[in-house]
Amino acid sequence: MDMFKLDGRVAVVTGGGRGIGLAIVEALAEAGAKVVIADHDLAVAGEGLSTLRSKGLDAEITQMDVTDPARVNAVADELVAKYGKVDILVNNAGIARSQTPAENVADEHWLNVIDVNLNGTFWCCRAFGKHMLEKREGTIVNIGSMSGFIVNKPQEQAYYNASKAAVHHLTKSLAAEWASRGVRVNALAPTYVATPLNAFVKDDPAMYDAWIGGTPMARLGEVEEVASVALFLSSKASSLMTGSVVLVDGGYTCW
Ligand code: NDP
Repeated sequence: MDMFKLDGRVAVVTGGGRGIGLAIVEALAEAGAKVVIADHDLAVAGEGLSTLRSKGLDAEITQMDVTDPARVNAVADELVAKYGKVDILVNNAGIARSQTPAENVADEHWLNVIDVNLNGTFWCCRAFGKHMLEKREGTIVNIGSMSGFIVNKPQEQAYYNASKAAVHHLTKSLAAEWASRGVRVNALAPTYVATPLNAFVKDDPAMYDAWIGGTPMARLGEVEEVASVALFLSSKASSLMTGSVVLVDGGYTCW
């Protein structure tokens, strides 16, 4: 069990104020890490921190929009100056803006999703990865999606699916570049998880039924079921893994 422990480690979770990100913050903190919630909305980060404290855990919060590379670089430098290192980076911030047929997608819509999901992930990998490479130690977990493997139905969301497939291949590319220098990069690809990101399905029972009907386990995921895998990938328990994209999908991609 010692391999799962994170005592003495410093971790950053982007978009960690709510949803899957907050559950990952909780898991890493429970395992002993000093965790920094990096969200673009400080109020959301603060609410996440209150939830965490109500459970007897703690974290630090910082404002960071992953689409702003200058701010990402500054946060990475500030945290390394303060703690001497960042051991774990979880690139969780992501947006879906689901349900727009490809032929109707506006330029701004496409660019926005790619900017947060792909560019944001890369800016963070680059900024924090640089420091990890200097220390020759570090672990990055990118939150991809099963949408990087399959095309969801019935909703049309080419921009999201493409962004997540790109995150998966970025993960493999960085893993190959950095493996011999002590930095591991893996990704996690969840199924539909009950969070604000896909709350829109509540208004569409037919879509909800399609999601559940397409899932062998016949249910949505819970945030804790994604966080536990993120903890595994963040810890020494996964020390032989790099460049893996771990499906956490209730069997969705089997069908
Ligand atoms: P939520 O929308 O619940 O949480 C995402 C968090 O990221 C929010 O706090 C959000 O802030 C923050 N965020 C958004 N944009 C930025 C940005 N530019 N910089 C920093 N923070 C930002 O999403 P989920 O918890 O559902 O999703 C987390 C990750 O998991 C995403 O990458 C998503 O694509 C992925 N995923 C989710 C699935 C699901 O079914 N929920 C399935 C598969 C993958 P704000 O509140 O202001 O928007």
